[in-house]
Amino acid sequence: MSKRRILLSSPHMGGTETKYVQEAFSTNWIAPLGENVDRFEEQVKEFTGANAACALSSGTGAIHIALDLLKVEQGDIVLCSSLTFVASANPILYHGGKPVFIDSEMDSWNMCPKSLEKALKYYKMLGKKPKAVVVVNLYGQSARMDEIGEICRRYGVPIIEDAAESLGAVYKGRMSGTFGRFGIFSFNGNKIITTSGGGMIISNDEVLIERALKKATQSKENAAYYQHETVGYNYRLSNVCAGIGRGQMEVLEERIEQKRNIFDKYVAGLGDVDGIEFMPEIEGSYHTRWLSTMLIDPKKVGVSAGELIEHLGESNIEARHVWKPLHMQPLFDGSEYFHGGDDNAKYLFEHGICLPSDTKMTEAEINEVIGLCRERILAQELFA
Ligand SMILES: *Cc1c(COP(=O)(O)O)cnc(C)c1O
Repeated sequence: MSKRRILLSSPHMGGTETKYVQEAFSTNWIAPLGENVDRFEEQVKEFTGANAACALSSGTGAIHIALDLLKVEQGDIVLCSSLTFVASANPILYHGGKPVFIDSEMDSWNMCPKSLEKALKYYKMLGKKPKAVVVVNLYGQSARMDEIGEICRRYGVPIIEDAAESLGAVYKGRMSGTFGRFGIFSFNGNKIITTSGGGMIISNDEVLIERALKKATQSKENAAYYQHETVGYNYRLSNVCAGIGRGQMEVLEERIEQKRNIFDKYVAGLGDVDGIEFMPEIEGSYHTRWLSTMLIDPKKVGVSAGELIEHLGESNIEARHVWKPLHMQPLFDGSEYFHGGDDNAKYLFEHGICLPSDTKMTEAEINEVIGLCRERILAQELFA
């Protein structure tokens, strides 16, 4: 039985990408600047409604620059969602900052506003002001940005919105990524659209994005010779990769529709199982369903998340655990963690599964995944 591997989320080209890449070659703009970079930035601005954007070589680099512009230095506290990929917090360490983690709420799986306020109140009491809050929008859904925004305004702490997983999501009529002082996107190979590797930093403040561009190009001063007064990075996106991004932006809406359809099929096929619960879409939110994710209750279905992932793996199907929370990672041992009593992030990690959500999956492949999940759960019931 040699069948094609069913993947979690893999690159899915629209068709015009090679044309733009070819243009980069034919004009010899094989550099981290050029027409494709400019156009790609314009497209993201138009799509999100942000005033300014700067294309970068990764989402991680975008967070690194955002923290730099917010003047995060040695020993500074930066609050960050705990349930996320390590890239949300690694750049805090690059600056010598102290990451402090905030729990998720069960409704959105994203940062819990109450736990955030608890942390801000605590540090205010100690007379310490966090330099920034990194708010992550998981798996295609915005966090409760209205409540989180209001709390952060009250405490005077700026938000970096890690929208690496939520390009195209909408919250209360606004595009994900446009709520913070900075928003960041990733175009890594597994994201909803890709440039093979890349990222972007956006803001409604054009001056901030001008500064980000300068940071991303070694902080070169405007002079006839090489003049440098502050630290900089080499983080601009290649014009070749930006060509891929241009083509990908043309199919982004189609991909979101496909992702949402995949999710609907999983709900239709598994939603009736007592003990399976899909990631909720909160009120006022439009979830892209970048990854279809669900919780399984082993007490009800008799199978753990790990066992189900393993079962799918035996049929060459890629399913994964939900992110392991950063407060549980050895890298961040000793970091503070704020939660509301129950450790929701831990619960979501222990019971969550990311199902294959590849937009190239056929109907039959989605049904195969559903069938295998049901088979494993049923087998457990029969032999229990
Ligand atoms: C992918 C991802 C990033 C990092 O983006 P890269 O482009 O891979 O550096 C950051 N945060 C989250 C939540 C991500 O999923």
